[in-house]
Amino acid sequence: MGNIGIEITDRPIVSGMGLGIMRFKADTDGRIPQAARSVIKKAYESGINYFDSGFEYIKGTSESIIKSELVDRYPRETFFIADKLPIWKVTKKEDVKNLFEIQLERLGVGYIDFYLIHAVNNRYFEMIKQYEVMDVLSELKDKGYIKKLGFSFHDNEEVLEKVLDHYSWDFCQLQINYYDWYAQHAKSNYELCTRRNIPVFVMEPIGGGRLINLPEEAKQLLRNNGFSPAGFALSFFKRLENVRVVLSGSLKEAELEENIKTLCGKKIKDDKDDLYAEIVRMIQDKSPVPCSACGYCLKECPRKVDIPLCFQKYNDSVMLGIPSQYRNFGEFYFNCIPVESRAENCIKCGKCAKRCPQSISIPNQLSEVYKKAAISLLGIKEESLGILKEKKVVCFGSGNMGREYKNILERLGISITYFCDNSKAKWGTVESGIEVISPDFLERNKDEYYVLISSTHYDAINEQLEKSGINVIN
Ligand code: SF4
Ligand code: SF4
Repeated sequence: MGNIGIEITDRPIVSGMGLGIMRFKADTDGRIPQAARSVIKKAYESGINYFDSGFEYIKGTSESIIKSELVDRYPRETFFIADKLPIWKVTKKEDVKNLFEIQLERLGVGYIDFYLIHAVNNRYFEMIKQYEVMDVLSELKDKGYIKKLGFSFHDNEEVLEKVLDHYSWDFCQLQINYYDWYAQHAKSNYELCTRRNIPVFVMEPIGGGRLINLPEEAKQLLRNNGFSPAGFALSFFKRLENVRVVLSGSLKEAELEENIKTLCGKKIKDDKDDLYAEIVRMIQDKSPVPCSACGYCLKECPRKVDIPLCFQKYNDSVMLGIPSQYRNFGEFYFNCIPVESRAENCIKCGKCAKRCPQSISIPNQLSEVYKKAAISLLGIKEESLGILKEKKVVCFGSGNMGREYKNILERLGISITYFCDNSKAKWGTVESGIEVISPDFLERNKDEYYVLISSTHYDAINEQLEKSGINVIN
């Protein structure tokens, strides 16, 4: 990219395009296939010198892949390593340093060039403050173990502002692509970083591959203008002066070559702005809820439901798929829409629908969106809702997840009879107004109950229940 000249390192400038290795698949022995190794080699030989890994990428093997494919082969000073603190694994201040030391060992290096706190959002920002994460990371930076300190970010401008105020960051990694730019908050987040002089690194430049699968007429319009969907998406960044690195997730040499050619090629003329907006409009036109985000309904709602945002998340998930950091639509929905703005707050007063120029039956559509989010988060089929309404339901797992499941089920008109838990200390206690029973009690009365597993130990509990012949709903 012509506009790259990142001056935040004291070594040769970062290449402008980085290779993210998150999407490579490891073999059973933890090594990536030869084709993927060739992509890393090709990237290095083509002048790419920024390689992005993460603690949990490729089942926790991405750092050892960086070691075998780069650290063990090339002079350390000829490439930059980016790695990330899995903030969700931090339960006390000491964890930060312990995790960092594991990463240094896996990478086989004495320092990390770009260290990011992974996937910061409002919830993780609270953890950063609670566990004094920046105290630890600043010390590691002062001692030379970290060269540049930043964070990758997944939330709105308001949260970003709080995070930027919290520390003097060297850079910020944002999810930007032309669709998010026009339809979501990518533009405001980018502009905020730019006003603060924080260099921006870009992840998901083609929406995790989602901007490849465009509606047919959008593809045709791009063909008429001489673009491939990927080339069109990547060309967008050449106009953003504060974008210093664009991460490519190429899995094949040919893809990598095309990406390099696009990012190093001529800047697209600014008059193509209309073309970006047109493609976004074509995606939105094919969306299942024909909301144009005019916002007329918002003024009417006594519950302050962010109606267009709920519809937009649903439409995006159908049209473009779920962003890669979420496992399903439920996770996407519950993480991306603030609790007070969600569809489930609707009381069906109908005031909004009278103002909608698209004649959308808003209350009904909102309850559909919530139902889809709820069942995908619960991991059950739509037809299982009927069974749950008729049977006595037990949630296995009485912790945070159990409480969350109880609330979600209640909003769907399903009440639970008991929580069940493997922890003996919880037996006979009451959680959120519901008694916690033992697995023995459940087994003795198994014909009466259907069980929903509300625990992160899903596989182990599922196996335990299957052995006892207990009905598990899915
Ligand atoms: S129907 Fe629901 S979304 Fe519409 S105004 Fe009433 S409460 Fe708000
Ligand atoms: S009034 Fe209708 S089209 Fe406008 S934002 Fe609300 S739901 Fe969407």
